[in-house]
Amino acid sequence: MRFSGTTVVVTGASRGIGRSIALAFAAEGAKVACVATKVENAQGTVDAIVAAGGEAKPYGLDVSDSAAVAEVFAQIEGDLGTVGVLVNNAGLTRDTLMMRMKDEDWDRVIDVNLKGAYLTTKAVMKGMMKARTGRIVNISSVVGVHGSAGQVNYSASKAGLLGLTKSVAKELGSRGITCNAIAPGFIETDMTHDLSEDFKARAIADAPAGRLGKPEDIAAAVLFLAAPESGFITGQCLEVDGGLFL
Ligand code: NAD
Repeated sequence: MRFSGTTVVVTGASRGIGRSIALAFAAEGAKVACVATKVENAQGTVDAIVAAGGEAKPYGLDVSDSAAVAEVFAQIEGDLGTVGVLVNNAGLTRDTLMMRMKDEDWDRVIDVNLKGAYLTTKAVMKGMMKARTGRIVNISSVVGVHGSAGQVNYSASKAGLLGLTKSVAKELGSRGITCNAIAPGFIETDMTHDLSEDFKARAIADAPAGRLGKPEDIAAAVLFLAAPESGFITGQCLEVDGGLFL
């Protein structure tokens, strides 16, 4: 029970990777604030946690909405106490070749994937600084590190998260707060559901692990970086991709 009594916020906790991260923290004793765009979307994850004997509460929030982030995070701290761990997992794609990309698709992806993490991090900073401890884990992507045709908005947002991660690590390191990123490879979730069988077969063939990733593969890495014992790791990006880019 590494996270007994710790308040953990997971954004995008309704499904996929975020749901798996929320379940894993709860199984280790954390009080988990499950954030999704709509409160009813987070309820399923909360129900699963409570059924397993854990503690969690659902919250509805668009992470790109500054006023809503401030309001909901104040509510979370009121309900569950100072946030000890923040996992910025909420994210979306609006893929197309740059030539055809609409400005609003660029703006929306940057707003949710990058500005969202800026806003939520700002919302937990004060409490973590006062507590002189904290863990922030940002879910980036291998395409933020390596680039991806047809995803300039998404890969730029995920690369931006890496800059945010390193800068926050530098700003808050002296207060006992770490900030790290995880760059998942291809993980089997709704986000990758529509990739062609051809593409998936190539991703499997290219990865030494010989398979696509599971949400649990990412959750395990998040818990490692968020653990109390990981206080000397900060500003890093851990690629969890089955060795895809070796
Ligand atoms: P998913 O689409 O299944 O889940 C995304 C989650 O983000 C959902 O809970 C959704 O409600 C939430 N979300 C979207 N917009 C939001 C907003 N404005 N405010 C609050 N919540 C919002 O995707 P997933 O595969 O589970 O992805 C989770 C994270 O991992 C994302 O940041 C994604 O970019 C990243 N990632 C996924 C993969 C992959 O292969 N699946 C690879 C690399 C990185």
